[in-house]
Amino acid sequence: MTKRALITGITGQDGAYLAAFLLEMGYEVHGMVRRSSTESSERIEHLTDRIHLHQSDLLDQSSIVGLLKDVRPQEVYNLAAQSFVPTSWLQPLLTSEVTALGVTRILEAIRLVDPAIRFFQASSSEMFGRVREEPQNENTPFWPRSPYAVAKAYGHFITVNYRESYGLFACSGIMFNHESPLRGKEFVSRKVTDAVARIKLGAADRVRLGTLDVERDWGFAGDFVRAMWLMLQQKEPDDFVVATGQKHSVRELVALAFARVGLESARYVEIDKALYRPAEVNRLCGDFSKARRVLGWEPTVGFEDLIAMMVDADLERVKRELAGGC
Ligand code: NDP
Ligand code: GDP
Repeated sequence: MTKRALITGITGQDGAYLAAFLLEMGYEVHGMVRRSSTESSERIEHLTDRIHLHQSDLLDQSSIVGLLKDVRPQEVYNLAAQSFVPTSWLQPLLTSEVTALGVTRILEAIRLVDPAIRFFQASSSEMFGRVREEPQNENTPFWPRSPYAVAKAYGHFITVNYRESYGLFACSGIMFNHESPLRGKEFVSRKVTDAVARIKLGAADRVRLGTLDVERDWGFAGDFVRAMWLMLQQKEPDDFVVATGQKHSVRELVALAFARVGLESARYVEIDKALYRPAEVNRLCGDFSKARRVLGWEPTVGFEDLIAMMVDADLERVKRELAGGC
């Protein structure tokens, strides 16, 4: 029997990778898209004739219930969120509505429509915030440092709570930063690789960044969506850290990206204190040994290869743009 999966956030970075992965696994893939005056399906353009898109919104309970009744999925992947940390200080209530309460809306809809649905929640390493230990594992206490991280902590615990209260097959993936050529351009990795491509091709002369001394555990989005799927194929629902176990600074990321095109980063980077955050997460590094042991999951793309992949893709894209293509 063909399995049906519903992905919220299908127009985002992870949604695009997960949709492609599930199609390859033989799934019928459905996606929630919110209404917008301009289309935001650029990342899934190449898949649109093989997937089913439905208008719905994490802010609207009845649209979610209606969607589950229409699609009748066996698996739901909740990737939708207001996912950018700085925006969460500018729009804290919207962030809570979507990133926190949105999770309860879906869980309630699952409980009412079909409690047999398996549910994945995209939780975040940002929940660890001011870290209590290193590396962070599934038992490390949270200390969220932004409205986004607080909302994600709610989403994580409500997922655990619906599993414990109602016996739902609900899993939380505590995912460390993961990037790709499809990453949003406001996130630091893509902001840098896009700028490197523009500078190399003469379309820009510098990039403004915030603090360079913070460290993150950066992995490849294509690897992370495989972990999401594996979680929903287990006998029992559980929570897993998904990470690479390696941390690097933004400074290293910048140097590596510029070196890829033979440039020296110091000449092109300007520090803009306006980009500093009201409360910073200085370092994150994940211990994914549970995912390796239980799911058999491992990352396949290392940090250097990831940055090279992103710089190369941005070079090609900017070249096309400059040549007048799309
Ligand atoms: P993106 O920001 O690329 O995608 C977010 C998605 O959510 C988009 O499809 C967006 O739609 C959708 N969305 C936003 N608001 C709503 C709403 N009200 N109703 C329905 N859909 C909505 O995120 P990523 O793909 O990078 O991340 C996927 C998930 O994983 C997110 O929940 C994120 O917080 C989490 N995560 C990501 C990490 C990472 O490093 N990438 C790390 C840890 C967790 P639209 O296109 O219309 O804006
Ligand atoms: P986050 O870990 O989800 O917040 O992912 P980001 O890619 O947005 O940020 C990672 C780290 O890079 C954070 O600690 C930021 O403070 C730092 N950083 C430094 N300069 C920038 C910048 O110009 N943009 C962004 N987004 N982050 C920056």
